[in-house]
Amino acid sequence: MRNEISSLLAEIKEQVLYMQELGAENFNVDLPEIKLSNFKTQSSKTEISQKRLERFVPTDLQLPTIETPKANTLKENSTRHSLLESTKLSRLPSLPKRNSFPTDKINEQAREKEMPKQLTEEPPQDLLFGDFKQTLPESNETIEDIRLDIGNCVRCPLHEGRTKIVHSKGNLAADLMFVGEAPGANEDAEGVPFVGRAGELLNKIIAGIGLKREDVFVGNVNRCRPPGNRTPTLPEAHTCRPFLKREIAVVRPKVIVVLGNTATQNLLDTKVGITKLRGEFQDYFGISVMPTFHPAYLLRDPSKKREVWEDMKKVRDFLNK
Ligand code: URA
Repeated sequence: MRNEISSLLAEIKEQVLYMQELGAENFNVDLPEIKLSNFKTQSSKTEISQKRLERFVPTDLQLPTIETPKANTLKENSTRHSLLESTKLSRLPSLPKRNSFPTDKINEQAREKEMPKQLTEEPPQDLLFGDFKQTLPESNETIEDIRLDIGNCVRCPLHEGRTKIVHSKGNLAADLMFVGEAPGANEDAEGVPFVGRAGELLNKIIAGIGLKREDVFVGNVNRCRPPGNRTPTLPEAHTCRPFLKREIAVVRPKVIVVLGNTATQNLLDTKVGITKLRGEFQDYFGISVMPTFHPAYLLRDPSKKREVWEDMKKVRDFLNK
């Protein structure tokens, strides 16, 4: 934990220096105060307050309020990943290198309007973080905590058309997890993921590697049905995805099978398509991820079942190792 905090602080320092190099006048961070001894150990459950986070970002970046009741605890902000996802620091990679610009323009809209297109594109992650490879943080919360936090969610427009929120479901001690895109009509009516025709096929896929549905944990990137089963928009996916990621940290499966493009791109934070990625294990913070085709796609094109079977054999062999 202390190493993670150290790395995090080093990154924040780097970002602070970077912001100062960019000429951010309102960026008043007392650098010498950013040191590990400012934080107590995890066992003392010291909180990193919202205020403390605000000290690390420019005032005009409009740090969003962290929505979870416990989200300002050291535990939940203990990794670069979750911290960056909860703050606008995650947007810093989009800033141009060594180009000064007025601090009152350091916000997304202004950047999009005023920066040349090529400068607004995100640099590859490895340029920014080198070989800094994170493992999944310990989670001290429960699935119920996450449900409570989701509540009667109205965070994105998808809530308007939903009948039921479709939470992830299954074995909390599962070695294998499946992640889909978003509920369809049957799931929306029942409040359970993958219960329609695609769900029946998913059950067969699970049975194909000698497991039962009760053995695995199943969830979606989005928990509310998009109108007409359209693909969730990026903002919709990004609004809901943190809850899935927190569940992954609770369940800590050995393998996650991501079903189709939306699930794959959202979990792995990539724009590479499923056709390119499927069949090869990817990494999500130390968890092996197998992208494969979505069962709904197999219903439309059964010839693709062969590829899914090949992918699932790899998953089976990995789990039996
Ligand atoms: N398709 C999905 O991606 N998820 C479901 O829960 C059902 C269908």
